[in-house]
Amino acid sequence: MPYLEESYDAAVVGAGHAGCEAALACARLGLETILFTVSVDSIALMPCNPNIGGSSKGHLVRELDALGGEMGKNIDKTFIQSKMLNESKGPAVHSLRAQADKQDYTREMRKTLENTEHLTIRQAEVSEIIVEDGKLTGVKTFSGAVYHVKAAVLCTGTYLRARCIYGDVSNPTGPNGLQAANHLTDSLKAHGIEMFRFKTGTPARVDKRSIDFSRMEEQFGDKRVVPFSFSTDPESIQKEQASCWLTYTNEETHQIIRDNLDRSPLFSGAIEGTGPRYCPSIEDKVVKFPDKNRHQVFVEPEGLSTNEMYLGGMSSSLPEDVQYAMYRTVPGLEHVRIVRNAYAIEYDCINALQLDASLEFKKIKGLFSGGQFNGSSGYEEAAVQGFMAGVNAAMEILGREPVILDRSQAYIGVLIDDLVTKENHEPYRMMTSRAEYRLLLRQDNADLRLRKIGYEIGLISEEEYQHLLWKEKAIEEEVQRLEQVHIGTGEAVQDFLTQHNSTLLKSGITLAELVKRPELDYFMLTVLDKDRPALPEDVQEQVNINIKYEGYLKRQMQQVAQFKKLENKKIPADFDYSTVNSLRKEAVQKLNQLKPLNIGQASRISGVSPADISVLLVHLEQMRHGHRQKTTV
Ligand SMILES: Cc1cc2nc3c(=O)[nH]c(=O)nc-3n(C[C@H](O)[C@H](O)[C@H](O)COP(=O)(O)OP(=O)(O)OC[C@H]3O[C@@H](n4cnc5c(N)ncnc54)[C@H](O)[C@@H]3O)c2cc1C
Repeated sequence: MPYLEESYDAAVVGAGHAGCEAALACARLGLETILFTVSVDSIALMPCNPNIGGSSKGHLVRELDALGGEMGKNIDKTFIQSKMLNESKGPAVHSLRAQADKQDYTREMRKTLENTEHLTIRQAEVSEIIVEDGKLTGVKTFSGAVYHVKAAVLCTGTYLRARCIYGDVSNPTGPNGLQAANHLTDSLKAHGIEMFRFKTGTPARVDKRSIDFSRMEEQFGDKRVVPFSFSTDPESIQKEQASCWLTYTNEETHQIIRDNLDRSPLFSGAIEGTGPRYCPSIEDKVVKFPDKNRHQVFVEPEGLSTNEMYLGGMSSSLPEDVQYAMYRTVPGLEHVRIVRNAYAIEYDCINALQLDASLEFKKIKGLFSGGQFNGSSGYEEAAVQGFMAGVNAAMEILGREPVILDRSQAYIGVLIDDLVTKENHEPYRMMTSRAEYRLLLRQDNADLRLRKIGYEIGLISEEEYQHLLWKEKAIEEEVQRLEQVHIGTGEAVQDFLTQHNSTLLKSGITLAELVKRPELDYFMLTVLDKDRPALPEDVQEQVNINIKYEGYLKRQMQQVAQFKKLENKKIPADFDYSTVNSLRKEAVQKLNQLKPLNIGQASRISGVSPADISVLLVHLEQMRHGHRQKTTV
């Protein structure tokens, strides 16, 4: 008889970026939720880079906000610099990135959690899951207390059996010296869950007073800051911003690294975990790109009330003395003093192929998971998974349908589909190149794509939803107006076109046709458009993109229609692929292991060929028309 027993609707294990979103989703949907963390001081901790967003990650944060998540609002309250990346390129790759004051970020998220109804925060290490007849019924802490729940979300991040390593120093701790969680892995394995061992790394933090910034390029934020959250009033966040700095490694840096590779735990084999290909350590870069004579180093403030500076681009696990030697070869860091050493961390996570698209374990009903624990890397990737896992745990408890976003609806859909369908043997990092429909999945229209879904879930307010409906109507009406307003060949028009090196008009034209011209856009045509209504920036942006890229958008929507055809070809959950003649052995094995929801997902499983898909399509078609016996396991 456990000495302490409590009951809740849902439990969330981990208060990192994934756990915070999962817990808020469950509690805001009215479920009594308990949130566990090994240290309440590490709530929403940013143990690595001091920024939120960036290429494709900014898309994830905006999609999360559109659905009703918290990260976007939290960074709008705590950023110290903000920049829209890739503005010189097309809107599909525009991506917001904001430097956070890390301490403020944690403090604000903790405040939000502590003031959320139905949410209980508990500092305790969960050491076991309790499963009865394939159903999750509770969790147990290392102290022996039992918490009975209807569903649980595991978001343990980089803490499970964590080990921090630099040189031949190895500490069995979590990030920043926090306690590791050393007991849950065994319980998960005992329930047949396959675990992986991954690793990631971080650079040193150095003392600002020991840096010579005159030897670096100052990097400024945008003059006009665009908020991450669609609920943030842009006027409320225009403020003075901190700077970041750019410098470079050089041949001397690289030589020191080459001379000490034998002392690197990465190359000596002391690190067994698999690291992220797209977040390589500096020693990885020097070895993999020997011809590059310099690598960028972004020197970023960790916050306004600390002198700690983050050396982005130089994460490492080399010994301390080598860290000093290599950092001091970098212009501006010649006299640098290290506050925290660079280090690598290895930790246990799962093979995400064990999850279905709702992030529920196929083997254990009521057990969901999100974040780094699922084999991803990054605050943003973690937050969106935590949110979706939390929402789907809540949907299951409330007896509602799971919420699954597909690859044509959101980067979140691409991320989760890649994790649960494709074999990931290293930490998965989101990139725009992973999203085949990226012209439609832009960061600027995340609310138009997803806010309605957030409203139907119950995490978007009536007011926010009504604003969305107003925005949709305003965009549509303005596009229609521009398609109807004709411009003549008057002197003012011709002068304007001349000024902008645009072809002069031989006859009248609509404003919309002018917007389409590569050298012109909606914003520039204000001078020719006397009756233009006063519209908010975000509406103007949509009008400009919808007209300018109309052709590309239409083509992509046709591709999506093709994609949907295969996604809508559902496959019975208990279908036995071994009964389909002429399906190749490897395909049968993979399909029976992964149990794809539909033909589209089946076609993305590695080892399943287009020929296998054709065979399957014919078989399912015949089954639908009763020509074949329904074959179940
Ligand atoms: C050293 C280091 C370097 C990194 N480098 C990069 C990088 O280069 N690029 C990048 O994109 N990302 C990097 N990251 C990853 C980034 O920090 C994570 O992606 C992000 O924090 C993951 O969020 P999460 O919510 O999944 O987990 P975390 O933020 O790790 O939070 C996990 C939470 O779970 C709790 N917890 C764990 N186990 C238990 C348990 N059994 N019981 C109770 N509570 C538990 C912890 O207390 C914590 O609150 C790095 C992280 C570290 C530590």
